[in-house]
Amino acid sequence: MRSKTYPVGTPGVPWGAPERCLWLSRQRVQRSYHDDVVAPLLASFAPESPAELQRVAECFTYGVLDYQSFGFGTYPLYAVKSKNWDPAKPFFLVTGGVHGYESSGVLANIRFIGEQLTRYAPRANLLILVCVSPWGYETVNRWNPHAVDPNRTFLPRPTSPESQSVITLLATLPTPLLHIDLHETTDTDASEYRPAKAARDAQPLDLSEIPDGFYLAADQSRLEPAFQAHIIEAVSRVTPIAPADAQGLLLGKPLAQHGVIQSPKREMGICSGWTDARYVTTTEVYPDSPGITPERCIQAQLTALYSGFDFALNAV
Ligand SMILES: [Zn+2]
Repeated sequence: MRSKTYPVGTPGVPWGAPERCLWLSRQRVQRSYHDDVVAPLLASFAPESPAELQRVAECFTYGVLDYQSFGFGTYPLYAVKSKNWDPAKPFFLVTGGVHGYESSGVLANIRFIGEQLTRYAPRANLLILVCVSPWGYETVNRWNPHAVDPNRTFLPRPTSPESQSVITLLATLPTPLLHIDLHETTDTDASEYRPAKAARDAQPLDLSEIPDGFYLAADQSRLEPAFQAHIIEAVSRVTPIAPADAQGLLLGKPLAQHGVIQSPKREMGICSGWTDARYVTTTEVYPDSPGITPERCIQAQLTALYSGFDFALNAV
């Protein structure tokens, strides 16, 4: 674990522009958004790929993030949407990579589109935002280059281009019935991202334990406990569900129910708080337990999607 004194800024003094620049200068591209995300996604829609997916869905860009002035590249933002949108069917929204370093959500979206979207297309209108924060994916970051967490900027006046792009797209569409946002909680949250946030904001360090297992974060204004419980039960067959800590807390919060915490998502500017969807949850996969492989993390995300979709389909 790194020192709790973060190597940027002066303890007790919030960051200004120089500290944000210094933080950015420490960030490096560590993997390729194009190779890992764009190429396999576009391959699913290539002429030589099975026609069934292309018959029911289209792939398009809903914006471009231009970070060239920061010494990085441009990042087209990809979405996959049902063709032949049918107002009689429910609308399911899935977002991944709002925190770009949380890989399994992004990779699960690609897997879902390539392998299972056609199974759900007859019964629902689908919109998959594959990787909302591709710079974060490439540099393995929670923040964008402005040292801003996109998952706190889903607000009436968005303060990140990542959230602004999503909000602009969603404004053209009806209210979804379901929104699942795919995330991870990792050991690096305690070793890197919390210390960075505490330093940036000159606030106390969050010392809550990193949950040892999968959990869900529900919106406190629409808990829908049966929906959350259905997902937890399904995912428990794929990966362990996080127990409460010795104080009975998960991520420093009281449990709303087994494996579920709740927060005021809309007020916090969290992605899955943005729409008025009835069934809303954020998945939190834990990739750092012994024996938990990247593939198992992807399977946990996919299981959360399928069980959530199935619950919502049975409810309509
Ligand atoms: Zn996250």
